Amino acid sequence: MERRRAAGEVRLDQVTGPLSGRKHAWSSSIGRHAQGRLSSSRTLRQTRHVTPYIALYLRISISSPDSIEDQDMQGREYCARVWPGVPIVVFAEDGFSGEKEDVIRPEYDRLRAAVGRREVAQIWCAEQGRLERNPVRWFQLAQELVSGGITELHTRREGIVHVDSEVADIRAVFNAREVRKLRQRVNDKLATNAARGNAPAALPFGYRREGKTFEIVPEQAAEIRQAAERVLAGWSMKSIALDMRTRNVGSARGGTITGATVKAFLTTPAIAGLRVYRGEVVGQGNWKEILDVPTWRTVCAKLSRPRRVAGARGPYEVSEACLTGSTGRKYLLTGGLIVCGVCNAPLIGSMKTVKPVPGKPPREPKPYFFCHNVKGGRGCVAAVMAGVDEYVLDQLWEKLDSTDFLRNLGGDDHAEQRDQLTRALSDLDSARLELAAEWATPGALTMSEWREARTALDAQKRNLMSDLAALPAPRAALPNIALTREAWPKMTLDERRGFVRMFVERVVLYRAILRGSKVFDDRRVDIEWRRR
Ligand SMILES: [Zn+2]
Repeated sequence: MERRRAAGEVRLDQVTGPLSGRKHAWSSSIGRHAQGRLSSSRTLRQTRHVTPYIALYLRISISSPDSIEDQDMQGREYCARVWPGVPIVVFAEDGFSGEKEDVIRPEYDRLRAAVGRREVAQIWCAEQGRLERNPVRWFQLAQELVSGGITELHTRREGIVHVDSEVADIRAVFNAREVRKLRQRVNDKLATNAARGNAPAALPFGYRREGKTFEIVPEQAAEIRQAAERVLAGWSMKSIALDMRTRNVGSARGGTITGATVKAFLTTPAIAGLRVYRGEVVGQGNWKEILDVPTWRTVCAKLSRPRRVAGARGPYEVSEACLTGSTGRKYLLTGGLIVCGVCNAPLIGSMKTVKPVPGKPPREPKPYFFCHNVKGGRGCVAAVMAGVDEYVLDQLWEKLDSTDFLRNLGGDDHAEQRDQLTRALSDLDSARLELAAEWATPGALTMSEWREARTALDAQKRNLMSDLAALPAPRAALPNIALTREAWPKMTLDERRGFVRMFVERVVLYRAILRGSKVFDDRRVDIEWRRR
Protein backbone atom coordinates (compact mmCIF):
# COMPACT_ATOMS: atom_id res chain seq x y z
CA MET A 1 0.00 0.00 0.00
CA GLU A 2 2.68 2.44 0.98
CA ARG A 3 4.62 1.75 -2.17
CA ARG A 4 1.62 2.44 -4.36
CA ARG A 5 0.82 5.67 -2.59
CA ALA A 6 4.33 6.85 -3.23
CA ALA A 7 3.66 6.81 -6.97
CA GLY A 8 2.04 10.24 -6.74
CA GLU A 9 -1.42 9.10 -7.50
CA VAL A 10 -4.68 10.89 -7.17
CA ARG A 11 -7.43 8.47 -6.29
CA LEU A 12 -10.80 9.43 -7.70
CA ASP A 13 -12.42 6.01 -7.76
CA GLN A 14 -13.78 6.20 -4.26
CA VAL A 15 -16.37 8.84 -5.06
CA THR A 16 -17.10 7.61 -8.57
CA GLY A 17 -18.08 4.41 -6.98
CA PRO A 18 -16.58 1.30 -8.56
CA LEU A 19 -14.42 0.30 -5.67
CA SER A 20 -16.46 1.62 -2.81
CA GLY A 21 -18.66 -0.58 -0.68
CA ARG A 22 -17.32 -3.84 -2.08
CA LYS A 23 -17.37 -7.11 -0.30
CA HIS A 24 -13.89 -8.03 -1.49
CA ALA A 25 -10.93 -7.53 0.72
CA TRP A 26 -8.87 -5.88 -2.03
CA SER A 27 -11.52 -3.27 -2.81
CA SER A 28 -12.15 -2.30 0.76
CA SER A 29 -8.46 -1.74 1.29
CA ILE A 30 -8.15 0.45 -1.81
CA GLY A 31 -11.36 2.22 -0.91
CA ARG A 32 -10.09 2.98 2.55
CA HIS A 33 -6.87 4.56 1.52
CA ALA A 34 -8.55 6.47 -1.30
CA GLN A 35 -11.02 7.93 1.12
CA GLY A 36 -8.35 9.99 2.71
CA ARG A 37 -7.55 11.84 -0.53
CA LEU A 38 -10.87 13.16 -1.70
CA SER A 39 -13.78 13.88 0.48
CA SER A 40 -16.57 14.96 -1.82
CA SER A 41 -17.92 14.50 -5.31
CA ARG A 42 -17.74 18.25 -5.84
CA THR A 43 -13.96 18.02 -5.61
CA LEU A 44 -14.03 15.22 -8.13
CA ARG A 45 -16.02 17.18 -10.73
CA GLN A 46 -13.64 20.07 -10.47
CA THR A 47 -10.68 17.74 -10.83
CA ARG A 48 -12.16 16.14 -13.92
CA HIS A 49 -12.31 19.40 -15.83
CA VAL A 50 -8.94 20.53 -14.75
CA THR A 51 -6.74 17.46 -15.00
CA PRO A 52 -6.79 14.79 -17.69
CA TYR A 53 -5.91 11.49 -16.08
CA ILE A 54 -4.60 8.04 -16.82
CA ALA A 55 -7.34 5.45 -16.83
CA LEU A 56 -6.47 2.03 -15.49
CA TYR A 57 -8.97 -0.45 -16.82
CA LEU A 58 -8.99 -3.56 -14.65
CA ARG A 59 -10.89 -6.72 -15.31
CA ILE A 60 -10.49 -10.34 -14.30
CA SER A 61 -10.15 -12.49 -17.40
CA ILE A 62 -10.96 -16.17 -17.73
CA SER A 63 -7.81 -16.81 -19.76
CA SER A 64 -5.42 -15.12 -17.34
CA PRO A 65 -6.93 -14.82 -13.92
CA ASP A 66 -4.60 -12.22 -12.41
CA SER A 67 -6.39 -10.47 -9.61
CA ILE A 68 -7.68 -6.91 -9.74
CA GLU A 69 -5.14 -6.07 -7.05
CA ASP A 70 -2.29 -7.38 -9.21
CA GLN A 71 -3.52 -5.44 -12.22
CA ASP A 72 -3.92 -2.31 -10.10
CA MET A 73 -0.36 -2.62 -8.88
CA GLN A 74 1.10 -3.33 -12.32
CA GLY A 75 -0.80 -0.40 -13.84
CA ARG A 76 0.36 2.02 -11.20
CA GLU A 77 3.97 0.95 -11.61
CA TYR A 78 3.74 1.51 -15.35
CA CYS A 79 2.14 4.93 -14.92
CA ALA A 80 4.75 6.00 -12.38
CA ARG A 81 7.47 5.11 -14.84
CA VAL A 82 5.98 6.55 -18.03
CA TRP A 83 3.83 9.47 -16.84
CA PRO A 84 5.14 10.38 -13.40
CA GLY A 85 2.86 12.67 -11.45
CA VAL A 86 -0.17 12.31 -13.74
CA PRO A 87 -3.34 11.46 -11.84
CA ILE A 88 -4.78 7.96 -12.14
CA VAL A 89 -8.42 6.87 -12.17
CA VAL A 90 -9.22 3.20 -11.79
CA PHE A 91 -12.02 1.58 -13.75
CA ALA A 92 -12.37 -1.89 -12.27
CA GLU A 93 -15.13 -4.30 -13.23
CA ASP A 94 -16.78 -5.94 -10.29
CA GLY A 95 -15.61 -9.51 -9.91
CA PHE A 96 -15.46 -12.16 -12.61
CA SER A 97 -18.43 -12.22 -14.95
CA GLY A 98 -17.42 -15.36 -16.90
CA GLU A 99 -19.34 -15.86 -20.12
CA LYS A 100 -21.27 -12.68 -19.59
CA GLU A 101 -18.17 -10.59 -19.23
CA ASP A 102 -18.91 -8.75 -22.45
CA VAL A 103 -22.40 -7.93 -21.38
CA ILE A 104 -22.28 -6.72 -17.80
CA ARG A 105 -19.52 -4.15 -17.85
CA PRO A 106 -20.61 -0.88 -16.25
CA GLU A 107 -17.04 0.32 -15.82
CA TYR A 108 -16.30 -0.16 -19.50
CA ASP A 109 -19.25 2.07 -20.34
CA ARG A 110 -18.12 4.60 -17.76
CA LEU A 111 -14.66 4.65 -19.32
CA ARG A 112 -16.07 5.18 -22.80
CA ALA A 113 -18.17 8.05 -21.53
CA ALA A 114 -15.10 9.58 -19.92
CA VAL A 115 -13.15 9.20 -23.18
CA GLY A 116 -16.05 10.87 -24.98
CA ARG A 117 -15.74 13.83 -22.59
CA ARG A 118 -12.00 13.88 -23.34
CA GLU A 119 -11.13 13.48 -19.67
CA VAL A 120 -8.81 10.56 -20.29
CA ALA A 121 -5.24 11.24 -21.34
CA GLN A 122 -4.07 7.62 -21.58
CA ILE A 123 -5.44 4.18 -20.96
CA TRP A 124 -3.58 1.32 -19.45
CA CYS A 125 -4.78 -2.26 -19.21
CA ALA A 126 -3.19 -5.66 -18.86
CA GLU A 127 -3.88 -6.48 -22.50
CA GLN A 128 -6.06 -5.23 -25.33
CA GLY A 129 -8.49 -8.10 -24.86
CA ARG A 130 -9.09 -7.03 -21.30
CA LEU A 131 -10.64 -3.85 -22.61
CA GLU A 132 -12.43 -5.42 -25.57
CA ARG A 133 -12.09 -8.94 -26.94
CA ASN A 134 -14.89 -8.77 -29.47
CA PRO A 135 -13.25 -7.63 -32.76
CA VAL A 136 -16.30 -5.81 -34.04
CA ARG A 137 -16.80 -3.93 -30.79
CA TRP A 138 -13.07 -3.28 -30.66
CA PHE A 139 -13.26 -1.47 -34.02
CA GLN A 140 -16.09 0.56 -32.61
CA LEU A 141 -14.20 1.35 -29.45
CA ALA A 142 -11.01 2.17 -31.36
CA GLN A 143 -12.88 4.81 -33.32
CA GLU A 144 -14.25 6.28 -30.12
CA LEU A 145 -10.78 6.34 -28.60
CA VAL A 146 -9.33 8.16 -31.60
CA SER A 147 -12.15 10.70 -31.51
CA GLY A 148 -11.47 11.10 -27.79
CA GLY A 149 -7.83 11.94 -28.54
CA ILE A 150 -6.42 8.57 -27.48
CA THR A 151 -4.25 7.08 -30.20
CA GLU A 152 -2.42 4.51 -28.13
CA LEU A 153 -3.43 1.83 -25.72
CA HIS A 154 -0.76 0.94 -23.16
CA THR A 155 -0.73 -2.67 -22.13
CA ARG A 156 1.39 -4.83 -19.96
CA ARG A 157 1.51 -7.84 -22.25
CA GLU A 158 1.31 -6.33 -25.74
CA GLY A 159 3.17 -3.08 -25.26
CA ILE A 160 1.67 -0.04 -26.99
CA VAL A 161 -1.20 -0.77 -29.34
CA HIS A 162 -1.48 1.95 -31.98
CA VAL A 163 -5.16 2.54 -32.04
CA ASP A 164 -5.18 5.12 -34.87
CA SER A 165 -3.30 3.00 -37.43
CA GLU A 166 -5.50 0.07 -36.59
CA VAL A 167 -8.54 2.22 -37.08
CA ALA A 168 -7.34 3.26 -40.54
CA ASP A 169 -6.81 -0.35 -41.56
CA ILE A 170 -10.01 -1.33 -40.06
CA ARG A 171 -12.04 1.39 -41.67
CA ALA A 172 -11.57 -0.22 -45.08
CA VAL A 173 -12.65 -3.53 -43.66
CA PHE A 174 -15.55 -1.77 -42.04
CA ASN A 175 -16.71 -0.26 -45.30
CA ALA A 176 -16.73 -3.68 -46.88
CA ARG A 177 -18.57 -4.94 -43.84
CA GLU A 178 -21.08 -2.13 -44.16
CA VAL A 179 -21.92 -3.25 -47.68
CA ARG A 180 -22.43 -6.79 -46.44
CA LYS A 181 -24.44 -5.52 -43.50
CA LEU A 182 -26.57 -3.43 -45.78
CA ARG A 183 -27.28 -6.47 -47.93
CA GLN A 184 -28.00 -8.45 -44.79
CA ARG A 185 -30.38 -5.73 -43.59
CA VAL A 186 -32.23 -5.91 -46.91
CA ASN A 187 -32.46 -9.68 -46.58
CA ASP A 188 -33.53 -9.31 -42.98
CA LYS A 189 -36.19 -6.91 -44.14
CA LEU A 190 -37.41 -9.43 -46.71
CA ALA A 191 -37.38 -12.16 -44.08
CA THR A 192 -39.28 -9.92 -41.68
CA ASN A 193 -41.80 -9.11 -44.38
CA ALA A 194 -42.16 -12.80 -45.08
CA ALA A 195 -42.53 -13.57 -41.39
CA ARG A 196 -45.19 -10.88 -41.12
CA GLY A 197 -46.92 -12.45 -44.13
CA ASN A 198 -46.65 -9.28 -46.19
CA ALA A 199 -47.42 -9.78 -49.85
CA PRO A 200 -44.30 -10.68 -51.86
CA ALA A 201 -43.02 -8.64 -54.79
CA ALA A 202 -44.31 -11.05 -57.45
CA LEU A 203 -48.00 -10.59 -58.17
CA PRO A 204 -49.76 -13.94 -58.55
CA PHE A 205 -52.59 -14.52 -61.03
CA GLY A 206 -55.89 -14.00 -59.22
CA TYR A 207 -54.79 -10.94 -57.25
CA ARG A 208 -54.00 -7.27 -57.51
CA ARG A 209 -51.68 -5.42 -55.15
CA GLU A 210 -53.17 -3.25 -52.43
CA GLY A 211 -50.43 -1.67 -50.31
CA LYS A 212 -48.65 -4.47 -48.47
CA THR A 213 -51.26 -7.06 -49.31
CA PHE A 214 -53.13 -8.63 -52.25
CA GLU A 215 -56.79 -8.24 -53.09
CA ILE A 216 -58.63 -10.98 -54.99
CA VAL A 217 -59.54 -10.21 -58.59
CA PRO A 218 -62.92 -12.00 -58.74
CA GLU A 219 -62.83 -12.96 -62.45
CA GLN A 220 -59.31 -14.37 -62.15
CA ALA A 221 -60.16 -16.17 -58.92
CA ALA A 222 -63.11 -17.76 -60.69
CA GLU A 223 -60.74 -18.94 -63.43
CA ILE A 224 -58.40 -20.45 -60.84
CA ARG A 225 -61.24 -22.29 -59.14
CA GLN A 226 -62.58 -23.57 -62.43
CA ALA A 227 -59.12 -24.69 -63.51
CA ALA A 228 -58.63 -26.46 -60.15
CA GLU A 229 -62.00 -28.16 -60.55
CA ARG A 230 -60.97 -29.30 -64.01
CA VAL A 231 -57.57 -30.59 -62.87
CA LEU A 232 -59.35 -32.67 -60.25
CA ALA A 233 -61.73 -33.90 -62.95
CA GLY A 234 -58.76 -35.05 -65.01
CA TRP A 235 -58.45 -32.26 -67.59
CA SER A 236 -55.02 -31.67 -69.05
CA MET A 237 -53.21 -28.34 -68.63
CA LYS A 238 -53.32 -27.96 -72.39
CA SER A 239 -57.09 -28.24 -72.65
CA ILE A 240 -57.66 -25.93 -69.67
CA ALA A 241 -55.39 -23.34 -71.30
CA LEU A 242 -57.11 -23.79 -74.65
CA ASP A 243 -60.49 -23.21 -73.06
CA MET A 244 -59.22 -20.09 -71.31
CA ARG A 245 -57.75 -18.77 -74.55
CA THR A 246 -61.01 -19.29 -76.44
CA ARG A 247 -62.70 -17.25 -73.72
CA ASN A 248 -59.98 -14.57 -74.11
CA VAL A 249 -58.71 -14.88 -70.55
CA GLY A 250 -55.34 -13.16 -70.24
CA SER A 251 -52.52 -14.07 -67.89
CA ALA A 252 -51.57 -11.93 -64.85
CA ARG A 253 -49.43 -9.71 -67.06
CA GLY A 254 -51.78 -9.92 -70.00
CA GLY A 255 -49.81 -12.55 -71.92
CA THR A 256 -51.10 -15.65 -73.68
CA ILE A 257 -52.18 -18.47 -71.41
CA THR A 258 -50.48 -21.78 -72.06
CA GLY A 259 -50.53 -25.08 -70.23
CA ALA A 260 -47.39 -23.96 -68.40
CA THR A 261 -49.10 -20.71 -67.35
CA VAL A 262 -52.03 -22.62 -65.92
CA LYS A 263 -49.75 -25.01 -64.08
CA ALA A 264 -47.73 -22.10 -62.72
CA PHE A 265 -50.69 -20.21 -61.33
CA LEU A 266 -52.31 -23.32 -59.90
CA THR A 267 -49.19 -24.42 -58.06
CA THR A 268 -48.36 -20.97 -56.62
CA PRO A 269 -48.73 -21.23 -52.82
CA ALA A 270 -49.99 -17.63 -52.83
CA ILE A 271 -53.41 -18.72 -54.13
CA ALA A 272 -53.78 -20.82 -50.98
CA GLY A 273 -52.90 -17.73 -48.92
CA LEU A 274 -49.43 -19.08 -48.14
CA ARG A 275 -46.34 -16.91 -47.87
CA VAL A 276 -43.16 -18.24 -49.42
CA TYR A 277 -39.65 -17.05 -48.60
CA ARG A 278 -36.67 -18.42 -50.51
CA GLY A 279 -38.74 -21.25 -51.91
CA GLU A 280 -40.15 -22.36 -48.57
CA VAL A 281 -43.63 -21.77 -47.26
CA VAL A 282 -43.01 -19.70 -44.14
CA GLY A 283 -46.57 -19.18 -43.01
CA GLN A 284 -49.85 -17.51 -43.67
CA GLY A 285 -49.91 -14.49 -45.97
CA ASN A 286 -51.86 -11.37 -45.09
CA TRP A 287 -54.20 -11.89 -48.06
CA LYS A 288 -57.26 -14.07 -48.68
CA GLU A 289 -56.96 -17.54 -50.19
CA ILE A 290 -58.56 -18.49 -53.49
CA LEU A 291 -58.21 -22.23 -52.88
CA ASP A 292 -58.05 -23.67 -49.39
CA VAL A 293 -54.82 -25.43 -48.50
CA PRO A 294 -56.09 -29.05 -48.76
CA THR A 295 -57.64 -28.37 -52.17
CA TRP A 296 -54.55 -26.58 -53.35
CA ARG A 297 -52.33 -29.43 -52.17
CA THR A 298 -54.57 -31.97 -53.92
CA VAL A 299 -54.33 -29.98 -57.13
CA CYS A 300 -50.54 -29.75 -56.78
CA ALA A 301 -50.29 -33.47 -56.10
CA LYS A 302 -52.34 -34.15 -59.20
CA LEU A 303 -50.08 -31.90 -61.24
CA SER A 304 -46.79 -33.14 -59.87
CA ARG A 305 -44.97 -35.81 -61.75
CA PRO A 306 -45.02 -39.22 -60.16
CA ARG A 307 -42.06 -39.98 -57.97
CA ARG A 308 -39.51 -42.23 -59.67
CA VAL A 309 -37.77 -44.89 -57.67
CA ALA A 310 -35.10 -47.34 -58.77
CA GLY A 311 -36.54 -50.76 -59.44
CA ALA A 312 -34.89 -54.04 -60.31
CA ARG A 313 -35.76 -53.46 -63.96
CA GLY A 314 -34.99 -49.77 -64.11
CA PRO A 315 -36.76 -46.64 -62.85
CA TYR A 316 -40.28 -47.14 -61.65
CA GLU A 317 -42.91 -44.48 -61.22
CA VAL A 318 -44.74 -44.45 -57.91
CA SER A 319 -48.18 -43.35 -58.93
CA GLU A 320 -51.11 -42.53 -56.69
CA ALA A 321 -52.36 -46.01 -57.45
CA CYS A 322 -49.26 -47.51 -55.83
CA LEU A 323 -49.87 -45.46 -52.72
CA THR A 324 -53.57 -46.20 -52.40
CA GLY A 325 -53.32 -49.79 -53.52
CA SER A 326 -55.96 -49.26 -56.20
CA THR A 327 -54.80 -49.63 -59.75
CA GLY A 328 -58.00 -48.24 -61.19
CA ARG A 329 -59.24 -49.30 -64.60
CA LYS A 330 -56.49 -49.13 -67.12
CA TYR A 331 -57.47 -51.75 -69.63
CA LEU A 332 -60.54 -52.07 -71.82
CA LEU A 333 -61.36 -55.72 -71.26
CA THR A 334 -60.09 -56.44 -67.76
CA GLY A 335 -62.32 -56.65 -64.72
CA GLY A 336 -63.84 -60.00 -65.69
CA LEU A 337 -64.69 -59.30 -69.30
CA ILE A 338 -61.75 -61.29 -70.66
CA VAL A 339 -61.09 -64.72 -69.21
CA CYS A 340 -58.61 -67.55 -69.67
CA GLY A 341 -59.72 -70.14 -72.21
CA VAL A 342 -57.90 -72.86 -70.24
CA CYS A 343 -58.75 -72.24 -66.57
CA ASN A 344 -61.56 -69.70 -66.93
CA ALA A 345 -59.87 -67.19 -64.56
CA PRO A 346 -60.28 -63.48 -65.32
CA LEU A 347 -57.17 -62.14 -67.03
CA ILE A 348 -55.16 -59.24 -65.70
CA GLY A 349 -53.60 -56.46 -67.70
CA SER A 350 -49.95 -55.72 -67.05
CA MET A 351 -46.84 -54.34 -68.68
CA LYS A 352 -44.38 -56.83 -70.05
CA THR A 353 -40.93 -56.31 -71.48
CA VAL A 354 -40.16 -58.72 -74.27
CA LYS A 355 -36.79 -60.44 -74.05
CA PRO A 356 -34.25 -58.38 -75.94
CA VAL A 357 -32.94 -59.79 -79.20
CA PRO A 358 -29.12 -59.78 -79.27
CA GLY A 359 -27.77 -56.96 -81.41
CA LYS A 360 -31.07 -55.05 -81.40
CA PRO A 361 -32.08 -52.16 -79.15
CA PRO A 362 -34.11 -53.16 -76.06
CA ARG A 363 -37.87 -53.05 -76.59
CA GLU A 364 -40.31 -50.84 -74.76
CA PRO A 365 -42.57 -52.67 -72.32
CA LYS A 366 -46.05 -53.35 -73.75
CA PRO A 367 -49.38 -54.04 -72.06
CA TYR A 368 -50.32 -57.72 -72.05
CA PHE A 369 -53.25 -59.79 -70.88
CA PHE A 370 -52.13 -62.52 -68.52
CA CYS A 371 -53.68 -65.49 -66.83
CA HIS A 372 -52.25 -64.84 -63.38
CA ASN A 373 -52.52 -66.40 -59.97
CA VAL A 374 -53.61 -63.08 -58.39
CA LYS A 375 -56.97 -63.77 -60.05
CA GLY A 376 -56.84 -67.50 -59.44
CA GLY A 377 -55.26 -68.30 -62.79
CA ARG A 378 -52.42 -70.71 -63.47
CA GLY A 379 -50.46 -68.72 -66.02
CA CYS A 380 -52.03 -70.52 -68.95
CA VAL A 381 -52.25 -67.72 -71.51
CA ALA A 382 -50.84 -64.31 -72.38
CA ALA A 383 -51.35 -61.99 -75.34
CA VAL A 384 -50.41 -58.50 -76.43
CA MET A 385 -53.34 -56.39 -75.31
CA ALA A 386 -53.47 -54.11 -78.33
CA GLY A 387 -54.07 -57.06 -80.64
CA VAL A 388 -56.94 -58.41 -78.55
CA ASP A 389 -58.56 -55.01 -78.01
CA GLU A 390 -58.35 -54.17 -81.70
CA TYR A 391 -59.85 -57.47 -82.71
CA VAL A 392 -62.71 -57.26 -80.21
CA LEU A 393 -63.55 -53.70 -81.30
CA ASP A 394 -63.42 -54.56 -85.00
CA GLN A 395 -65.81 -57.41 -84.30
CA LEU A 396 -68.04 -55.13 -82.25
CA TRP A 397 -68.36 -52.45 -84.92
CA GLU A 398 -69.04 -55.13 -87.50
CA LYS A 399 -71.69 -56.67 -85.30
CA LEU A 400 -73.32 -53.29 -84.66
CA ASP A 401 -73.57 -52.68 -88.41
CA SER A 402 -75.87 -55.64 -88.53
CA THR A 403 -79.41 -54.63 -87.61
CA ASP A 404 -80.16 -58.25 -86.79
CA PHE A 405 -77.76 -58.14 -83.88
CA LEU A 406 -79.37 -55.06 -82.38
CA ARG A 407 -82.88 -56.42 -82.92
CA ASN A 408 -81.90 -59.71 -81.37
CA LEU A 409 -80.63 -58.01 -78.29
CA GLY A 410 -84.18 -58.56 -77.19
CA GLY A 411 -86.82 -56.80 -75.23
CA ASP A 412 -86.30 -54.67 -72.20
CA ASP A 413 -87.36 -55.79 -68.75
CA HIS A 414 -85.46 -52.98 -67.09
CA ALA A 415 -86.71 -49.94 -69.00
CA GLU A 416 -88.09 -48.14 -65.98
CA GLN A 417 -85.01 -48.80 -63.83
CA ARG A 418 -82.74 -47.72 -66.62
CA ASP A 419 -84.65 -44.50 -67.21
CA GLN A 420 -84.41 -43.70 -63.53
CA LEU A 421 -80.70 -44.31 -63.51
CA THR A 422 -80.13 -42.28 -66.66
CA ARG A 423 -82.17 -39.38 -65.29
CA ALA A 424 -80.33 -39.54 -61.99
CA LEU A 425 -77.03 -39.52 -63.82
CA SER A 426 -77.88 -36.48 -65.91
CA ASP A 427 -79.19 -34.73 -62.79
CA LEU A 428 -75.89 -35.50 -61.15
CA ASP A 429 -74.01 -34.00 -64.07
CA SER A 430 -75.97 -30.79 -63.92
CA ALA A 431 -75.62 -30.69 -60.14
CA ARG A 432 -71.92 -30.98 -60.63
CA LEU A 433 -71.84 -28.16 -63.15
CA GLU A 434 -73.89 -25.97 -60.83
CA LEU A 435 -71.59 -26.83 -57.99
CA ALA A 436 -68.55 -25.87 -60.05
CA ALA A 437 -70.20 -22.60 -61.05
CA GLU A 438 -71.16 -21.86 -57.48
CA TRP A 439 -67.70 -22.65 -56.26
CA ALA A 440 -66.26 -20.37 -58.91
CA THR A 441 -68.36 -17.55 -57.43
CA PRO A 442 -66.42 -16.07 -54.51
CA GLY A 443 -68.17 -16.42 -51.20
CA ALA A 444 -70.97 -18.69 -52.43
CA LEU A 445 -69.55 -21.90 -51.06
CA THR A 446 -66.74 -22.66 -48.66
CA MET A 447 -63.98 -24.94 -49.85
CA SER A 448 -64.85 -27.74 -47.51
CA GLU A 449 -68.52 -27.55 -48.49
CA TRP A 450 -67.48 -27.74 -52.10
CA ARG A 451 -65.14 -30.67 -51.52
CA GLU A 452 -67.71 -32.57 -49.51
CA ALA A 453 -70.40 -32.00 -52.11
CA ARG A 454 -68.09 -33.00 -54.90
CA THR A 455 -66.99 -36.19 -53.19
CA ALA A 456 -70.61 -37.09 -52.50
CA LEU A 457 -71.54 -36.50 -56.14
CA ASP A 458 -68.62 -38.60 -57.31
CA ALA A 459 -69.65 -41.49 -55.10
CA GLN A 460 -73.26 -41.28 -56.29
CA LYS A 461 -72.15 -41.21 -59.88
CA ARG A 462 -69.96 -44.28 -59.45
CA ASN A 463 -72.83 -46.18 -57.88
CA LEU A 464 -75.29 -45.18 -60.59
CA MET A 465 -72.83 -46.05 -63.32
CA SER A 466 -72.20 -49.51 -61.97
CA ASP A 467 -75.93 -50.08 -61.50
CA LEU A 468 -76.51 -49.01 -65.06
CA ALA A 469 -73.70 -51.15 -66.37
CA ALA A 470 -75.15 -54.14 -64.58
CA LEU A 471 -78.41 -53.81 -66.50
CA PRO A 472 -78.61 -55.71 -69.80
CA ALA A 473 -78.67 -53.30 -72.73
CA PRO A 474 -82.10 -52.96 -74.30
CA ARG A 475 -82.75 -51.92 -77.84
CA ALA A 476 -84.52 -48.75 -76.77
CA ALA A 477 -81.64 -47.64 -74.56
CA LEU A 478 -78.90 -48.37 -77.06
CA PRO A 479 -76.68 -45.42 -77.78
CA ASN A 480 -76.37 -43.89 -81.20
CA ILE A 481 -73.86 -46.28 -82.71
CA ALA A 482 -72.65 -43.98 -85.48
CA LEU A 483 -72.06 -41.14 -83.07
CA THR A 484 -70.32 -43.39 -80.58
CA ARG A 485 -68.00 -44.67 -83.26
CA GLU A 486 -67.14 -41.11 -84.25
CA ALA A 487 -66.62 -40.06 -80.64
CA TRP A 488 -64.60 -43.20 -79.77
CA PRO A 489 -61.12 -41.63 -79.94
CA LYS A 490 -62.24 -38.89 -77.55
CA MET A 491 -64.11 -41.15 -75.16
CA THR A 492 -62.63 -41.97 -71.78
CA LEU A 493 -61.64 -45.51 -70.91
CA ASP A 494 -64.62 -45.81 -68.57
CA GLU A 495 -67.01 -44.68 -71.29
CA ARG A 496 -65.51 -47.16 -73.74
CA ARG A 497 -65.73 -49.96 -71.22
CA GLY A 498 -69.35 -49.08 -70.54
CA PHE A 499 -70.11 -49.21 -74.24
CA VAL A 500 -68.32 -52.52 -74.82
CA ARG A 501 -70.12 -54.07 -71.87
CA MET A 502 -73.45 -53.21 -73.40
CA PHE A 503 -72.84 -55.78 -76.11
CA VAL A 504 -70.04 -58.08 -75.02
CA GLU A 505 -70.74 -60.69 -72.37
CA ARG A 506 -67.29 -62.21 -72.28
CA VAL A 507 -64.08 -62.54 -74.26
CA VAL A 508 -62.19 -65.81 -74.00
CA LEU A 509 -58.47 -65.99 -74.76
CA TYR A 510 -57.01 -69.35 -75.74
CA ARG A 511 -53.46 -70.54 -76.00
CA ALA A 512 -51.45 -69.56 -79.02
CA ILE A 513 -51.56 -72.05 -81.84
CA LEU A 514 -48.72 -70.53 -83.83
CA ARG A 515 -45.91 -69.92 -81.36
CA GLY A 516 -43.83 -66.81 -81.86
CA SER A 517 -46.07 -65.35 -84.55
CA LYS A 518 -45.65 -61.62 -84.98
CA VAL A 519 -49.20 -61.14 -86.18
CA PHE A 520 -52.02 -61.42 -83.67
CA ASP A 521 -53.85 -64.66 -84.25
CA ASP A 522 -57.55 -63.88 -83.94
CA ARG A 523 -58.38 -67.57 -83.72
CA ARG A 524 -57.23 -67.36 -80.12
CA VAL A 525 -60.11 -65.05 -79.21
CA ASP A 526 -63.72 -65.98 -78.79
CA ILE A 527 -66.29 -63.22 -78.19
CA GLU A 528 -69.51 -64.07 -76.40
CA TRP A 529 -72.16 -61.48 -77.30
CA ARG A 530 -74.97 -60.42 -75.08
CA ARG A 531 -78.25 -61.90 -76.01
CA ARG A 532 -80.43 -59.45 -74.18
ZN1 LIG B 1 -55.60 -69.83 -67.12
